[in-house]
Amino acid sequence: MSVTVVGSVNEDVLVAVDRLPGRGETVVGRSVTRAPGGKGANQAAAAGLLGPGVHMVGRVGEDAAGDRQLAALAGSRVNVSRVHRTPGLPTGTATIPVEEGSGENLIVVAPGANEALSPADVDVEPVHRADVLLLQLEVPLETVQAAATAAGGTVVLTPAPPRALPDGLLSRVDVLVPNEHELVQLAGAAPGDRTPAELAALARGLGVRAVVVTLGARGALVVPSGDGPALLQEALAVDAVDTTGAGDCFTGALAQGLAGGADLAGAVRYAVAAAALSTTGPGARGALPGDDDVRAVLD
Ligand code: ADP
Repeated sequence: MSVTVVGSVNEDVLVAVDRLPGRGETVVGRSVTRAPGGKGANQAAAAGLLGPGVHMVGRVGEDAAGDRQLAALAGSRVNVSRVHRTPGLPTGTATIPVEEGSGENLIVVAPGANEALSPADVDVEPVHRADVLLLQLEVPLETVQAAATAAGGTVVLTPAPPRALPDGLLSRVDVLVPNEHELVQLAGAAPGDRTPAELAALARGLGVRAVVVTLGARGALVVPSGDGPALLQEALAVDAVDTTGAGDCFTGALAQGLAGGADLAGAVRYAVAAAALSTTGPGARGALPGDDDVRAVLD
């Protein structure tokens, strides 16, 4: 049972502000908090806390932020032997002013070492041999494509942040996991409210084997390959405190479910429960559940 994540490793620098700055304006922050981040690393941490056999493939700088990210991943039971230190580039950083009261934010990402993750870096055993390979779009697209091509197991792609995909990438993906907004962008459709049936029709038009659309507090829509009916898996009712990273936890848990032999609907049930629990604490990694926690709410 093994899961490998190829993707970004960032440090999030959260600055609490009374109000967000306008263009050209300086505002004084109240406090600074550093938190581990990056879609790839968040997915790996979620998967690692849920089960064994998780590898991360990525790049950080030769700096203190890189030390902190490696320690945070290792603390979530992720094997980091393929997270390389990159001379001359800083660890990826997301600077996020957060308005106190409203919780509104701005995000500026400096990818740093993530941009140096190369196709050669992903031509490695953890990618070839993983039961499930998780990919997102915060590292160079040619590297994402190379990883999808080199994969020996099930390929799961989160198409975020939204960007045009190279020809042939989607055809190598077994399960695509967009949120509603990402699905609409990928399908080239107009924004707007859609019913689950309309979303399923958009998902089928992408030509991917299976699509799981995450729908926030509404749960997740499973659109299987072939003509099988779409299935709406309702969210688990929780008192959500912070939904940052819920999608990353969802995908990490989906991977562990699939690696453990569950079918897609069963893995989505597990992921919906894990993602709901992850919203009950602060930040992307503040409340990631363990396997026992998820099983307790499923039983
Ligand atoms: P993203 O974080 O990528 O935008 P979503 O907001 O769709 O993704 O959330 C991912 C998953 O997390 C959802 O499919 C759902 O299972 C779970 N989730 C998100 N918000 C809540 C919530 N308020 N209550 C319960 N579950 C939630």
